Amino acid sequence: MQLKDTILIVEDEKSIANYIKTIVENNGYRALISFNGFEALTMLSSYCPDLMLLDLGLADIDGIQIIENVREWSQIPIIVVSARDMERDKVDALEKGADDYITKPFGAAELLARIKVAMRHKHNAKLEDSFTQPNKILVKDLEIDFNKHQVSISGSPVH
Ligand code: CA
Repeated sequence: MQLKDTILIVEDEKSIANYIKTIVENNGYRALISFNGFEALTMLSSYCPDLMLLDLGLADIDGIQIIENVREWSQIPIIVVSARDMERDKVDALEKGADDYITKPFGAAELLARIKVAMRHKHNAKLEDSFTQPNKILVKDLEIDFNKHQVSISGSPVH
């Protein structure tokens, strides 16, 4: 069985939080809800979700500050969910490390499309990580080839 990707929904308006929860759960994701910023930060570190949907207008911590804090220790994809239609807020959020944003009101199809893109970037980043592991080390004349399990000096194999 494949593990479901978990989405943390940070939203202080219950109706919107439940609306998002229903959409993502109907599409094969696991949903966690946090109604404020402090709880969101705690849940991020204890549940390690795969993606965060973050409302910028929370009662306790400004969404922008949450992004700043999270980016000090996590590369989790963050999609900002904002009622604010001000371009400045979106630019701020992106500059602080959000991956994308969606403006309320939004439909299920747009939300899911943005989630899919963010998840894809996350999985691609993981793949790239595994490709950057060295399979050869070169030190002057010494060459260690991990794929061939071969050590050679100036091109001649050493046993
Ligand atoms: Ca709000």
